[in-house]
Amino acid sequence: MEIRLVNITKTFGGNRVIAPTDLTIESGSFTTLLGPSGCGKTTLLRMIAGLEAPDTGEIWFDDSLVFSAEKRINLPPENRGLGFVFQDFALWPHMTVFENVAFGLRAKKDTNGLEVRVAEALRAVQLENFSQRYPHQLSGGQQQRVAFARAIVIEPACVLFDEPLSALDALLREKMRRELAELVSRLRLTAVFVTHDQTEAMSMSDRIAVLNGGVVEQCDTPEHIYLRPATTFVARFVGKSNWLSPTELFRPEAMTLTPTEGYSKYDLPVTAIQYMGDAYEVLLQYQDVSWMLRSGRKPASGETVSVYIDPQKIIHCEREHI
Ligand code: ADP
Ligand code: MG
Repeated sequence: MEIRLVNITKTFGGNRVIAPTDLTIESGSFTTLLGPSGCGKTTLLRMIAGLEAPDTGEIWFDDSLVFSAEKRINLPPENRGLGFVFQDFALWPHMTVFENVAFGLRAKKDTNGLEVRVAEALRAVQLENFSQRYPHQLSGGQQQRVAFARAIVIEPACVLFDEPLSALDALLREKMRRELAELVSRLRLTAVFVTHDQTEAMSMSDRIAVLNGGVVEQCDTPEHIYLRPATTFVARFVGKSNWLSPTELFRPEAMTLTPTEGYSKYDLPVTAIQYMGDAYEVLLQYQDVSWMLRSGRKPASGETVSVYIDPQKIIHCEREHI
């Protein structure tokens, strides 16, 4: 299902939280809303869900208008046919896994074949043998999967995720990233995923919308966001950036210690070294900024090293912000 936001805005108590926004979420895509805390990600997601009404604009699901400020259309959340997965899982502690997943169907009085449908949703997340457990008898990852089963049991065309992995520890998060992305793709769902974690966004998404202060600065593939950031804000927020000037940068992999013809040479002092296991992250002082070099060899702190930069990989951002 394609979701289209047209000229959406939102203010809370006089504060503009979402600037006039146009955004299209392609059918079948995994689209992530990425940005720092407070930039309006949850507000945008809640407006898509129907949990919050925009001040202006329209929201389209394929050819149906689900919200229009002008035409006073506002389809309630339960009629939008979306699944929703929250950050804290929001499972009922006094209900079994089965009842938690069945809850959405019962609430909609959509109980035909309930047992089979709940069992199918639990099988999709590999929890078919856990249906009689209570949430406190499950690990964090399993609780996350129950929340996902509950979102998909209503067979939504689209699932909205609000920072669903942030309550999990680092290792589990990484595992769940893959698991979630794989499930979404296997079930051919459209996914709108909110996170402030750029690694999560980069690794899971077909498209990323980078938000800053209620403005979509860029909506693009992860590769374009990384290699062709539209603004300096996007460049800073996603990936490591080494700045040559206020609007010119390169990524660490464009720089090497190996003398290479056609590359620009700089002799720079080493100011800090961090061992990352697979490589050293070396900070170099260039004028008044720090550059990050990834190197297999450990230079001495205080040493001056010669680095070579691929001029083809220098990125120009036209502006700071949209
Ligand atoms: P994010 O999810 O990106 O962290 P939010 O969408 O939750 O950001 O919030 C964006 C801004 O809107 C924040 O400044 C927040 O304080 C404000 N905000 C969100 N919801 C409300 C509300 N119901 N009433 C007043 N202010 C709100
Ligand atoms: Mg939020």
